[in-house]
Amino acid sequence: MSDRQLKGIGVSPGIGVGAAIVVRWTMPEVPHRVVPRSQVEKEVRRLRAAVRDVKRFLQAMKAKAEDRAGVDEARIFDAQILMLEDKEFLAGVANLIRENLLAAEKAYEFKALEVRDMWAATGSPRLKDRLADLSGVAVRVIEHLMHRGSDELWEAISQPTVVVAKELSPGLTVQLDREHVVGLVSEEGTRTSHAAILAHSIGIPAVFGVAGAIERIEPGTMVVMDGTRGTVLLQPTPHEIAEAQARELRRRELALQLEEVMDQPSVTTDGVRIVLRGNVDLPDEIKPAQDHRAEGVGLLRTEFLITGHTELPTEDEQAEYFRRVAEAFRGHPVVVRTYDLGGDKLPAPFRAPSEVNPQLGWRAIRVCLDRPDIFRTQVRAALRAAQHGDVWLMIPLVTRLDELDRTRALVAEQAAQLAREGIAAATSLPVGVMVETPAAAVMADRLAAEADFLSVGTNDLTQYTLVVDRGNARLADRFTPHDPSVLRLLKIVADAARQAGKPASVCGEMASEPLSAFLLIGLGYVTLSVAPPALPLVKWTVRQVSAARARVAAEQALAARTAADVLDLLRLALAEAVDLKLLDPDGRLPAGRRAASLNV
Ligand code: PEP
Ligand code: MG
Repeated sequence: MSDRQLKGIGVSPGIGVGAAIVVRWTMPEVPHRVVPRSQVEKEVRRLRAAVRDVKRFLQAMKAKAEDRAGVDEARIFDAQILMLEDKEFLAGVANLIRENLLAAEKAYEFKALEVRDMWAATGSPRLKDRLADLSGVAVRVIEHLMHRGSDELWEAISQPTVVVAKELSPGLTVQLDREHVVGLVSEEGTRTSHAAILAHSIGIPAVFGVAGAIERIEPGTMVVMDGTRGTVLLQPTPHEIAEAQARELRRRELALQLEEVMDQPSVTTDGVRIVLRGNVDLPDEIKPAQDHRAEGVGLLRTEFLITGHTELPTEDEQAEYFRRVAEAFRGHPVVVRTYDLGGDKLPAPFRAPSEVNPQLGWRAIRVCLDRPDIFRTQVRAALRAAQHGDVWLMIPLVTRLDELDRTRALVAEQAAQLAREGIAAATSLPVGVMVETPAAAVMADRLAAEADFLSVGTNDLTQYTLVVDRGNARLADRFTPHDPSVLRLLKIVADAARQAGKPASVCGEMASEPLSAFLLIGLGYVTLSVAPPALPLVKWTVRQVSAARARVAAEQALAARTAADVLDLLRLALAEAVDLKLLDPDGRLPAGRRAASLNV
């Protein structure tokens, strides 16, 4: 099947089955035409008139997008209008007309290609995403100048069709008729391209970034494209079509059920309350976490405050951000994780010497304690925000008790200093430890006795326990938090926290995945901090399982020999309560060795 299957990025979910229509052009062929010097100003006027008309067209597209996709998505067209009216760009085109006596469309094409090459060469993903907008605007202006229209193609579509293109602009996407265009496949583009965002809002399945699509897909070929998996299957058999449709039905059924659990309590069938918080890495994730009813933020990553900036953020900037998050989750804690710099996180304003072994080097709490100037600012900001909400402070990559002592001392010192300065701030705040090294897990009893709370970062805990670089693709199959060694450490931490009467949670990625969430409940965790999009799925799982059954599964997992055995037994246990086919229509749950043959 592999020579019939193309792979890309699923950017808008759902299945589309139809005949391919292949759009081969991006820019129209523009003939080289020069004009007599006496006509030059007329060409410039023609350019201005075209810009005016295309602006009107884009405004109409914006209105259409408002109707079909929503007000926020429609703003995409404001960005295109800004591009269209860019003074510098238009002055460049007018110059080409005046100096080289080029016809307006040729001058426009030259300038558009020049900007396109410049953007493509920067390698910036953001600019690359905007290339489709640029082409969309340029094609429209050039076609207008050439007295050609490009809409006939879309109007001619009258049966289920999958549109295959080199690149799709938002202008084309918003005009597509969902009745007939059942899917989009494009060679260029990513999840954040404007065409992808629009396709998602309008509800047309789409797969972008499919290398060689134009060459590989003959016009008229039947295809099954899957915008969730990011696949395009050519010339499918009737069985393959039926299988894809069944998968889509299961996805829809699950989506309905997930919507239903949204406002239901997060409680297991035997009455154990599981608190589900959100992991927030970027401000954009605050809303999805709220929408999915996160009970606070269990991990507020703060590195974004530095990444992509030229200067370190000020105390005011941080205090304002922490306050904003705290106010968004009133009545629930927001756990501010102090800077986790170094290792794989090396933003520009933080100049660290290069190290042979950065993951074992100067990172996280080590950096903060060595750079009190940076740490102090963050601690003061957290104390100020704690006046307005339930803000907790959490330190990453702890390996020694004195790292907690020194952090507490700094917190106390800065609380007193803020009071002396007459700045409104909390007098103290809970200070917790991220357990993400074997050292911290082994010392969990002492850390639990002294910290206000513990939270397990299973991403790093797995990396350091198994000695597997978390970012090394070659070792990806060895990076498994289900290894019994990691599970034993997780158990030690849960037991230590319970004995000390301190809260413990898990905020590593594994908590976002249903099979693992079930296991963590069995290991004794009643608080999980989860990627916002995964909140409904984890809650749906929680509501169908019993904590008692999870405990039995966890006991078996702790006694297992390998991670694959752990996954097998978890699948079996979970399948008693949950329809795994519904839970996992795309086969993405981690599978053990025997899972396929067990057919669960
Ligand atoms: C972790 O290590 O599990 C964690 C949550 O922290 P990060 O992924 O930011 O290192
Ligand atoms: Mg970590």
